[in-house]
Amino acid sequence: MTIMQHVEMVVPCYNEQECIRPLYDEIDRVFKEIEGYDFSILFVNDGSSDRTLSEIRKLAEIYGDEKLRYISFSRNFGKEAAIYAGFDNCQGDIIILMDADLQHPPTLIPEMLQGLAEGYDVCGARRVSRKGEPMFRSLFSKAFYGVINRLTAMNLVPGGSDFRAMKKCVADAVVSFPERERFIKGIFSWAGYETKWIEYENVPRHAGKSKWSFLGLVRYAWKGYFSFATAPLRVAVFIGVATVVVAFIYAIRVLIQVHVLHSRPWEDTTTIILLILFLGGVLIALLGVIGEYLAKIYAEIKHRPIYVSKEDNLNNQKRE
Ligand code: UDP
Ligand code: MG
Repeated sequence: MTIMQHVEMVVPCYNEQECIRPLYDEIDRVFKEIEGYDFSILFVNDGSSDRTLSEIRKLAEIYGDEKLRYISFSRNFGKEAAIYAGFDNCQGDIIILMDADLQHPPTLIPEMLQGLAEGYDVCGARRVSRKGEPMFRSLFSKAFYGVINRLTAMNLVPGGSDFRAMKKCVADAVVSFPERERFIKGIFSWAGYETKWIEYENVPRHAGKSKWSFLGLVRYAWKGYFSFATAPLRVAVFIGVATVVVAFIYAIRVLIQVHVLHSRPWEDTTTIILLILFLGGVLIALLGVIGEYLAKIYAEIKHRPIYVSKEDNLNNQKRE
């Protein structure tokens, strides 16, 4: 006889009114077919402006506060904050993080649970096709993984989505990362743990629109680099030092031309202007990089909460 394991699904939602109900039904259907597991859902309403919260409340009324738990933010804090809040308040033996829009097929859940049963700490879904996605977005994504894996100590699996099943201790570890500027893929990678990857094909959203504009994705990638990479800093310092060396060599050459070879006069304003411009450019680049880190440090030391919850039903339940 196997012991019943409790699985909690953590679902960040931002304006997903049409997806809440179908998502519940899908998950429910999947769990009916597997033995040894029961589930609850923890919806994190990330300040939706549509009927997402009332849809969630409706479900909680039908299925009870134990099966259907939720936290609702005071405004939109972003998916990273929603994930944090979910992990911060989750309970169960196994936690599964998934999107609300059914782009993370619940049918993969049994295979993921199987992965954990095999002894892996994390079992993640890896998207192998990007059908139905603009081509430049796929290219951008490819470039992002290529560069980040080279530049940083992180090793991100291309296509590795946020759809992951994990043991509770992994979710706890993620919450123990106190940083404000959060980049969950990087945090997972940094935290380690043995991860199994399951492949799946891209599925279009069930309803609604993606919250990611192209610019939003660029911002996300940028954040990834600067929250985890110290390489940009090193590259900038290297360029700075190399430039100074070149300047020295050039100065010696000019000095020899002037004083030893007498092949040119001393005044060479063009050279000076060029040098000033060049070094100025390097300094500005360096300052830019340092500024980027300062901004991060500033954000961290403010120690603001990662999210503010306005409403939840977490204490209404009997569990634990
Ligand atoms: N999401 C969120 N807060 C946000 C943006 C998105 O909680 O500010 C949620 C969203 O509701 C969905 C998931 O994050 O469940 C993924 O968002 P989306 O589907 O827009 O991203 P995509 O699948 O296009 O990468
Ligand atoms: Mg989506």
